[in-house]
Amino acid sequence: MGSTQQGRALVLFSGGQDSTTCLAWALERFAYVETVGFDYGQRHRVEMTVRLETLRELRATFPQWRQRLGEDHVIDLAVLGKISDTALTREVSIAYEKSGLPNTFVPGRNLLFLTFAATVAYRRGLDVLVGGMCETDFSGYPDCRDVTMKAMQSALSLGLDRNLKIETPLMWIDKADTWALAHLLGGQSLTQLIIQHTHTCYNGVRDTLHVWGYGCGACPACLLRKAGFEKWATQ
Ligand code: ZN
Repeated sequence: MGSTQQGRALVLFSGGQDSTTCLAWALERFAYVETVGFDYGQRHRVEMTVRLETLRELRATFPQWRQRLGEDHVIDLAVLGKISDTALTREVSIAYEKSGLPNTFVPGRNLLFLTFAATVAYRRGLDVLVGGMCETDFSGYPDCRDVTMKAMQSALSLGLDRNLKIETPLMWIDKADTWALAHLLGGQSLTQLIIQHTHTCYNGVRDTLHVWGYGCGACPACLLRKAGFEKWATQ
């Protein structure tokens, strides 16, 4: 893509496979990119350390991206743990509730994240928000839907009186295609970086490295990541 990049973006970056792929996508596409993460008292602190390691590895491995990758912001959303009661912030096991939603669901979490991200973007002069929301593999989260993102884009643009675009490069692709997208963007260097450094497991397990990355191998996030990897690897 060379020097054709335009625009300034803020990537919602958790240190997982999806948001790392979104970050690579943004670094190929935009002239300047910053990242934002949310600390909401996740049960597994590993997420907050893994995201810094992943940023460091991206800078070290991809010099062409390093020059476009700016500041990282971490927003303390501990209040989210106080107003919600879910398996991600409390010591209970992952299960599916009567509504069909897994108990990892924090109601409206992405709406809050996008609102805080928009506030950071406004202050930093960034005009695009990039997130890993996805309808294809989603666990039923209504705040990941494309129609929700379109509505948020309108609400935020109106409320800030500034055109703010929400980009969701993973919206219509499955986990196998997310691996394929990472490979397209950064080759084997990027897929290996994602395997070795990103974290997706709901149970916070990082003691066993599988071909698809670290994780317990049994929670819904690990099962999706594993199945996606296997489908991609055999394509
Ligand atoms: Zn797991």
